[in-house]
Amino acid sequence: MSSTPKIAIIGAGPGGLTLARLLHCAGIPSIIYESDPTPESRTSTGGTLDLHEDSGQIAVKEAQLWDEFQKFARYDGEDRVLKDRFNNIHAEQKGIDTGRPEIDRKYLRDMLLDAIPSEYIRWGHHLKTVDECGTLHFANGNTASGFDLVVGADGAWSKIQRLLSTVRPFYSGVSAVELWTEDIDALDPELAAMVGNGSHFVFGNETGRCLLTQRQDKGVVRTLAYMRVPDTYLADHDVNDGDRDAAVEFLLREFDEWAPELKRLITTFDGIVVPRQLHMLPVGMRWPHKKGFTLIGDSAHLMTPFAGIGVNMAMHDALDLAHAIIGAKGGDLDAAVYGFEKTMWPRSEKAAKLTWESTLSRFDRDGIETLKARLQQAVESRGTRERKVEVLPAVEKFGEMNMS
Ligand SMILES: Cc1cc2nc3c(=O)[nH]c(=O)nc-3n(C[C@H](O)[C@H](O)[C@H](O)COP(=O)(O)OP(=O)(O)OC[C@H]3O[C@@H](n4cnc5c(N)ncnc54)[C@H](O)[C@@H]3O)c2cc1C
Repeated sequence: MSSTPKIAIIGAGPGGLTLARLLHCAGIPSIIYESDPTPESRTSTGGTLDLHEDSGQIAVKEAQLWDEFQKFARYDGEDRVLKDRFNNIHAEQKGIDTGRPEIDRKYLRDMLLDAIPSEYIRWGHHLKTVDECGTLHFANGNTASGFDLVVGADGAWSKIQRLLSTVRPFYSGVSAVELWTEDIDALDPELAAMVGNGSHFVFGNETGRCLLTQRQDKGVVRTLAYMRVPDTYLADHDVNDGDRDAAVEFLLREFDEWAPELKRLITTFDGIVVPRQLHMLPVGMRWPHKKGFTLIGDSAHLMTPFAGIGVNMAMHDALDLAHAIIGAKGGDLDAAVYGFEKTMWPRSEKAAKLTWESTLSRFDRDGIETLKARLQQAVESRGTRERKVEVLPAVEKFGEMNMS
């Protein structure tokens, strides 16, 4: 192997892009193969993600993108309200710097894309298979080979994960219907005030239902109506992409015994409807090491979103793998990659366990108390502070951004 390894990254999600950027900063080029046909093919904001101080934020800093991140970070998005299904407030966290600013997924992706030479990325390259010689075969008929390392950063249904393991993601027992609002301030100012600046959690306890509404930039809001149901439940009830009326009718039945103010979260929206089944990999997932291949992010340890750690884990993996690759320059890359995996497995096991506990407790009778205690502990462990960072005038940046 030459002193500069030849690296392929499958997938331009937060994990793959962070890795490519970190390697680029160290003078190591990589090639990303991504299914999306173009950088603009995703039109939605993709939801909001909170970056943690001990993982996602460190990766952003090492990627020399901290100042850029500040233009998109929403510190007021850290606000939290916890309610029961009768609309009683059990906890409110407002104006506190919890160290977990939110960023829209699209902004994070664009920020990373802008920081990587465009020739590093092959759009429209959906990996289909990897043959015995390690050659990558793409759906568009192209092939690629000769890499010292292929990194699977291709998310939940990773083709690289399939190569390394016989274990596949399984249904977590929870489905969701996403309801998108394009501009809640214009659509319903009263509802906008109820949702607040950050996350509005409503627990249904033993009903097996809960609602999470999160504000994103420019008044965009996503409500996730979560349900503990069998895997075919949404399909059995004809809840499909785009069928707004059927989804509302279905959800009104499912959330029948909820306060009328809360039902407005599922009747008052003007955007798309997306039904989802949430899948996961087993807690403690690992695989037999295979020279020339590894996994990061969801492809290594897919979790439900109930602990809000997935993107942070993906970026942390990217950081650790970048360190391993950079450290091995000219030396034993395979040993370095195995060393990375041995560090990542126990770290992701801890996160996956926390996530699984959160998945279950979100539907427990005392789930609201569990989350309340977790939020309080997080604030106390770092010391409650007034928000020290001003919310930046994001409007200036919107003008410059391609929002297609
Ligand atoms: C509803 C929901 C809410 C969430 N909320 C949060 C949250 O608040 N906080 C948090 O930390 N995490 C959250 N997550 C989890 C988070 O989105 C993921 O953990 C994170 O995106 C993982 O990043 P990744 O780069 O590993 O994979 P992905 O983001 O899935 O990116 C994978 C990339 O690979 C590409 N790809 C896939 N297959 C192929 C292929 N065969 N060939 C080429 N390219 C391919 C995809 O197009 C994509 O660009 C949430 C997830 C969901 C579903």
